[in-house]
Amino acid sequence: MARSRCARCTRPAGYCVCAHIPRLRNRTRVLVLQHPDEARHPLNTARLAVLGLANADLHVGEAFDARLWLDTPSWLLFPGDDACVLSPGMRPADPPAQLVVPDGTWRHARRLLRTNPSLLTLPRCAPAPGAASAYTVRRAAEPGALATIEAIAATLQALDAPMDATPLLRPFAAMVQAQLDATARAAATPD
Ligand SMILES: [Zn+2]
Repeated sequence: MARSRCARCTRPAGYCVCAHIPRLRNRTRVLVLQHPDEARHPLNTARLAVLGLANADLHVGEAFDARLWLDTPSWLLFPGDDACVLSPGMRPADPPAQLVVPDGTWRHARRLLRTNPSLLTLPRCAPAPGAASAYTVRRAAEPGALATIEAIAATLQALDAPMDATPLLRPFAAMVQAQLDATARAAATPD
């Protein structure tokens, strides 16, 4: 039988990280487009990001209504050769009203872009490389890849400066630590 989970953060009972979730008043709206497989993943970080932001929304699916991003000046948070690279505190001259974030594995994210081709017409941005991921518990498919919540926090740190976006990472840090503790306990227990 599945363990009971917190209805808000979806972490298992005893591992709820809701007490660590901030309520940041972000200027740039965050719109997460989440692949259904990611919504079921127990270490889903985009949900934690949306819970921590006053101006954010999460949609689960594969094909979305393009008006979600075409009716609002939007940038796509996704790497690419022409992506604007955002460093902390570097606020662009003409920042978008909305940041669109495809969420899932790299394969899922690429499929979301193929299924919703108008996303490819949006300007792209990506956080500056070099930020080491704390995402040690769920290995990213590509080296240097950040967890979705890390990518959102790093991007808002630039777009919404001088707002400090780092508190967004608190529930994520608590989740990673709890996972590491559980792994250490399991390793210390003889079979
Ligand atoms: Zn919770």
